Amino acid sequence: MAKIAINIATGSLQQADMIVGIDLGTTNSLVAIIHPESKQPVALKEHDSSSLVPSVVHFDETGNIAVGEEAREYLETDPQNTVFSAKRLMGKSYRDISENASFFSYRVIDDDTDSLVKVQVGDKFYSPTELSAFILKELKQRAEHILKTPVTKAVITVPAYFNDAQRQATRDAGKLAGLDVLRIVNEPTAASLAYGIGLDREQETTIAVYDLGGGTFDISLLRIANGIFEVLSTNGNTYLGGDDFDRAVVKHWTHQFNISDEELKQNHELAQGFRLRAEEAKKYLSHHDTYSVAWHNHVLELDRDTFDGLIAPLIGQTIECSRLALADAGLTAADIDSIVMVGGSTRVPAVKNAVSGFFGKAVNDTVNPDEVVALGAAIQADILAGNNKDLLLLDITPLSLGIETMGGLMDVLIPRNAKIPTKAGRQYTTQKDGQGDMRISVYQGERDLVKDNRKLAEFSLKGIPAMPAGLPKVEVSFLINADGILLVKAKELRSGVEQGIEVRPQYGLTDAEVEKMLLDSITHAKDDMQARALAEARTEGEQILGVTEKFIAKNSGLLSGEEMIATAEAMQALQLALTMEDKNLIQSKIESLNEISRPFAERAMDAAVSGALKGKKV
Ligand code: ADP
Ligand code: MG
Repeated sequence: MAKIAINIATGSLQQADMIVGIDLGTTNSLVAIIHPESKQPVALKEHDSSSLVPSVVHFDETGNIAVGEEAREYLETDPQNTVFSAKRLMGKSYRDISENASFFSYRVIDDDTDSLVKVQVGDKFYSPTELSAFILKELKQRAEHILKTPVTKAVITVPAYFNDAQRQATRDAGKLAGLDVLRIVNEPTAASLAYGIGLDREQETTIAVYDLGGGTFDISLLRIANGIFEVLSTNGNTYLGGDDFDRAVVKHWTHQFNISDEELKQNHELAQGFRLRAEEAKKYLSHHDTYSVAWHNHVLELDRDTFDGLIAPLIGQTIECSRLALADAGLTAADIDSIVMVGGSTRVPAVKNAVSGFFGKAVNDTVNPDEVVALGAAIQADILAGNNKDLLLLDITPLSLGIETMGGLMDVLIPRNAKIPTKAGRQYTTQKDGQGDMRISVYQGERDLVKDNRKLAEFSLKGIPAMPAGLPKVEVSFLINADGILLVKAKELRSGVEQGIEVRPQYGLTDAEVEKMLLDSITHAKDDMQARALAEARTEGEQILGVTEKFIAKNSGLLSGEEMIATAEAMQALQLALTMEDKNLIQSKIESLNEISRPFAERAMDAAVSGALKGKKV
């Protein structure tokens, strides 16, 4: 199911724009897409640069805003005007974060209330949503630059523990950045999709997603069945991550060289130098045994064993959180089928060893842990775009759905692009006296006449008790459930007889077919309008002929011979007009017949009234 944009003004069809997957991280953010040729998820990056965009925003005194690597440079030199970790503030009040206020080098406004926090930079105030929007805008721009096409639709990931306020704040940030956020997806869900876990609807499994990023740790246990990802439990520490590894290394070195904490605090350059080299050493040790660098008059050295010793207590904390998560879910380590590793810090071999030791299994670490969440978000985006037909996680209808009414007209009950699940209903009635059956034909398409649309199903509502035409009330209802299956029901409300059918509208229509149907509806819009007007005039003409016939049969005594002839002539003229393709002719013949029959309709009314009076004793 493709989403196809139609330019209303020109009627031109635009290439369905791409839905991107975005990992809006505390430390780093990035965008991924499904590669149009390889069909594999890929993180977007400019040549020779990283796919990661540091989640840092810098404001300079002239009002310029920088995001990413450039902004990160200011973390040490201009901390008051450099905002990092805005994600930690999403949907939070000052009270929520007061305990950790010292963590933020920029000004978080302390109004000691439950209202949402704001960050003050210079004389301006920014909400965490606005700050996140700056990052998303940057990601959008970079993606557009790389893809050379507008990017307007996205799936954005959030931690599984995010509450409604935090999810809404993330959605709003997307909107502010000019993105239509089609879905907010849990990070662990995205990560497991990137490993192909949960893509098979038949599969039932229980997994652990261990996510150790720059400043946060979380563990989520998921139960996956029937394509549904259920979060069984989450645990973690929002102030524990790779940055703490760096700090442990800095401490180790400054201790070696007898540099006091006070000295380090005073000398930003020194602190910055140590921090950068500590991070470098940490990363280097993920693939080597020893690190050494000459810096100023020092030689900074670190071997893997020493490093492992420094971070052991930190890793221990994450294992403790994992134990609590298992207990909360009522599970043991043996119940976990797979472990997915997420976040840059899981590259550290000691982390992998500790986790696989705890769960008693090898961990999944083949996908780049920095990118795995964004890659999964791209897979989810692709499913939403309808490019993965086996997975019906569809959430909008590609074409309008309706039924055939008199004159072969399409009566739309659910318009195209309606969000699913959805339902709609409308009342119809019979055409003929004593009509016992009513045929319900279900169509899909944008054209006014059903013959130009695609028939999906047909069934008859049988056993409508005999009633004059127009009296039965047949309620036709459409329901599209979350699986994208359409259920059509018809019920005669006076008698209660009902009948239903299940339709699978998405199957069998290729994107190209949907596209063609939409194009046709534009090309034929004018013809369709005329066809509809003609069909409506014909229906009206037929109804009037039927009513007049019935009237004459009942009231022939009230009409003179001349009137009989004039009526018969007018009826014939209308009958003839009905066989022609001229709506105006039909309407004028309807008018003429009405002119002639109006006087006896009045006469008949009088007769009925006086007859009624006669029958009553006054
Ligand atoms: P977040 O999800 O919080 O945005 P990331 O998943 O991008 O964070 O993780 C960032 C962290 O990963 C940083 O602390 C960084 O130093 C760390 N990291 C990145 N690469 C490595 C590596 N090779 N070895 C150890 N840590 C790494
Ligand atoms: Mg992350």
